[in-house]
Amino acid sequence: MRSRFKPWAAELIGAHPEIIIPEPEKVKGKWQEVFGNDHPLHIEAGTGKGRFIVGMAKMNPDINYIGIELFDSVIVSALERVLEEEGGIPNLRLLKVNAKDIESYFEKGEVDRLYLNFSDPWPKSRHAKRRLTHETFLRLYETVLPENGEIHFKTDNRGLFEYSLTSISEYGMLLKDVSLDLHANEPEWNIMTEYEEKFSKKGQPIYRLEAQFQA
Ligand code: SAM
Repeated sequence: MRSRFKPWAAELIGAHPEIIIPEPEKVKGKWQEVFGNDHPLHIEAGTGKGRFIVGMAKMNPDINYIGIELFDSVIVSALERVLEEEGGIPNLRLLKVNAKDIESYFEKGEVDRLYLNFSDPWPKSRHAKRRLTHETFLRLYETVLPENGEIHFKTDNRGLFEYSLTSISEYGMLLKDVSLDLHANEPEWNIMTEYEEKFSKKGQPIYRLEAQFQA
């Protein structure tokens, strides 16, 4: 996600450790203590400006959510969304970290579901390893999800979707639900991401899948 440099972002992030958790590796295995309950934990890798994760957290107060994003200049917009909410969003936290280090922040089975939305497509085949649905990432997700944990993935990018279907099937995951045009019959529970809103307005189909790890 492109975002102009925001020199003030680091300061605002630092001022809100109750939302963007500093040193999340120290909380590994203790997320229930952070949220103060034992509700399921769903995370989104590559959360961008937070439209999805904020919408999900507001819609499902009995599920805890964590949005993971690489860049200060992007995650700060998600933080601002949370700060706009009167009383905050008690079931949402943000992490400014790289999804490739996910094992450092969560114990096996601590995460109940993983969302990937409009992940960077990395179209050149020499960059395939950077795609968040590459086998290497699937292996990482498997280490933090429970035995039959699920990944829910949406994208506008047909190439990335085709690649992901293959990568996920070859990994041995069960494809549970595949849509080639999510908005043709949009489910009432669908929360649009920033990218989803932008691309669907242009009339582009949105692809979606749910996949489950197999024991
Ligand atoms: N999910 C949002 C949406 O649908 O509007 C943002 C999509 S944007 C194309 C992809 C986002 O993923 C960017 O903000 C990027 O910084 C973030 N990202 C890419 N690789 C990441 C990684 N390894 N760990 C954390 N965030 C990542």
